[in-house]
Amino acid sequence: MKIITLEEHFQLAEIKKAVAKFLPGLNAFHLTGYDPSDAQLEDLGADRLHHMNAMGVDVQVLSYTSAGLPAIPAAEAVPLAREINDQLAAAIQAHPDRFAGFATLPTPDPEAAATELERAVHTLGLRGAMINGRTNGRFLDDPLFRPILEAAAALDVPIYLHPAFPPKAVQDAYYAGFDPAVSMSFATAGWGWHMETGIHALHMILAGVFDRYPRLQLILGHWGEMIPFYLARFDEALTPAAKHLQRPVADYFLQQMYTTPSGMFTLPPFLLTMQIMGADRIMYAVDYPYIATDQARTFLENDQSVLPIKKKSRMGTPKRCSNLRPCELRGAISGKHGL
Ligand code: CA
Repeated sequence: MKIITLEEHFQLAEIKKAVAKFLPGLNAFHLTGYDPSDAQLEDLGADRLHHMNAMGVDVQVLSYTSAGLPAIPAAEAVPLAREINDQLAAAIQAHPDRFAGFATLPTPDPEAAATELERAVHTLGLRGAMINGRTNGRFLDDPLFRPILEAAAALDVPIYLHPAFPPKAVQDAYYAGFDPAVSMSFATAGWGWHMETGIHALHMILAGVFDRYPRLQLILGHWGEMIPFYLARFDEALTPAAKHLQRPVADYFLQQMYTTPSGMFTLPPFLLTMQIMGADRIMYAVDYPYIATDQARTFLENDQSVLPIKKKSRMGTPKRCSNLRPCELRGAISGKHGL
């Protein structure tokens, strides 16, 4: 069984420094306890490979850690994104059997972001893009971002919608007022990120994005960012109201979104997601180095509850991995297109 993980992060020292000039507050995330060292994030060689081997991960699909690019001026974001993607491509070239990558896009300049996505896929061989939450408070369904979605659909590559900080007004209204570590965790990995990202995906559905781009595929981490749990409820409450959509709300989720665990290796959400979405819509992710677990392989191999499901699914072959196609990026729990 070959294990390919899709939400694995790296950082570049000079980019961190450049972004920090604009976003000094980003450093507060260390309060949450998800605080890997710069060395861990910046290593794209021996140390990372050592950890992958220890975790039983064969291939990491790398993406830049929440770069903050959505919140910096467009003129700065464009060259930084290019630099990130160039360096990512170089790291993949050094270890083509162990790394693949998702591009970072300068979303504040959507036209440039679309051009960069095309360059990243065609010239650098990256497999899609990771976008961290909203850009300047706007969801991806804002007409401003059509060039990005159009490009992703035309290139047939997925967009991994990764959590990011909720807007300040939301943080203040919902998550503030506790000890700073509690408020930060509550607003991010403890709840707020997932609520924010789930709303973002639903917002895109309700805005008709997936009718406009029926080939567009989105990846959500954290077992679907709360959506699978409520999917029947959405069809009960939202679908009758959303007469402007061509299909039921749940249908967009089941046909145009994938999910990964993002290192949340407990059985109940896996079983729920498996029942709701099926094996073909589940991929795999550790969220290294924020989560550096030894469960990446054992969760699949050793747990008795996973085994019967695993037997039904095709775990794939190493052969397919060397020819990883963008929309065939299904991880270890996979169906007919398994890697
Ligand atoms: Ca992550």
